[in-house]
Amino acid sequence: MVVSLEKHVCHDKKAKVPDQQLVFGRTFTDHMFVADYTAGVGWHDLRIQPYQPLTLDPSAIVFHYGQTVFEGLKAYKSPNGMVRLFRPNLNFERMNESCQRMSMPAIDPEAMLESLIELIKIEKDWIPTAPGTSLYIRPFMIATEGYLGVAPSQKYKFMIILSPVGSYYKEGIAPVKILVENQYVRAVAGGTGTAKTAGNYAASLKAQEKATEEGYSQVMWLDGVERKYIEEVGSMNIFFKIDGKVVTPALNGSILDGITRRSIIDMLRYWEVPVIERRISMEEIREAHRTGKLEEAWGTGTAAVISPIGEFKWQNELFYVNNGQAGELSSRLYDTLTGIQSGQLPDPFGWTI
Ligand code: PMP
Repeated sequence: MVVSLEKHVCHDKKAKVPDQQLVFGRTFTDHMFVADYTAGVGWHDLRIQPYQPLTLDPSAIVFHYGQTVFEGLKAYKSPNGMVRLFRPNLNFERMNESCQRMSMPAIDPEAMLESLIELIKIEKDWIPTAPGTSLYIRPFMIATEGYLGVAPSQKYKFMIILSPVGSYYKEGIAPVKILVENQYVRAVAGGTGTAKTAGNYAASLKAQEKATEEGYSQVMWLDGVERKYIEEVGSMNIFFKIDGKVVTPALNGSILDGITRRSIIDMLRYWEVPVIERRISMEEIREAHRTGKLEEAWGTGTAAVISPIGEFKWQNELFYVNNGQAGELSSRLYDTLTGIQSGQLPDPFGWTI
């Protein structure tokens, strides 16, 4: 891909939202990155332009058959003004894997990272600095060809939009209540669960609505065949500490390969805490709870980083974890990872750029 990036910088700046009032995904910065793809030509017209609505043909394939993928990562500004990205190359690599699954064209991860850095340079004043705040980055690709046949689009748009986001936890990390979902499933092996594609998220809304109605904040997904084995929690990967050892579901073809998950596994191994990737059944969690060995549980993902779990409801049984409090290990993981991401702590892994 030839990187010739045009910049159209706008002069009418939007009013900023104070750091304390920022919520997730509602505020967007002044500019966006856009590139177009045409079959036979490749990627062209890479540009940074004012943030604006798109004009698309109503028959664009994305509207009808959901040919689209996205990513999510964050930039942090440290008190001295240095801006850091956390393992952004992994997001662009994962995007290409999602594209591969969805019959969409690959991007050039290096060129896209360069474009992202240029965009962030223009928008650096939008990066909030209050503790726990960051700039959420949403790269995404849509199929734009107008055609009602079920076939891969011949045209695409790749875009990056930026959203300053507030602290996920206002007063320290707070444990969440999880409803284990027995009817609906998120993904099956051979399906699209390992891709960050819109349909997976649309399909998750029904179960999330049910959980919200029952007073639970997230859904725990079980496998699509037997409803027996644990997959993910909401849009996070899941970890348990059982009898001193950390376990997490192995990547089985339906679980998303989370970048936070990978980082947590590496960090635990660096600390010499045993961590095993394998199948985990709900029966095992019930037994660990019954025998007092279920010490901690937490979700991992870019948005919350670490989300401790204080309670599970499975059918009619309730399992409380660590008396509904954030555990010692999950708190240490949260402090260390957010410290590395924001530049407050040294980064022995070389994860931030
Ligand atoms: N699972 C799903 C289904 C997700 O959407 C996400 C968020 N990207 C994750 C797990 C966590 O992935 P990451 O740590 O890369 O944010």
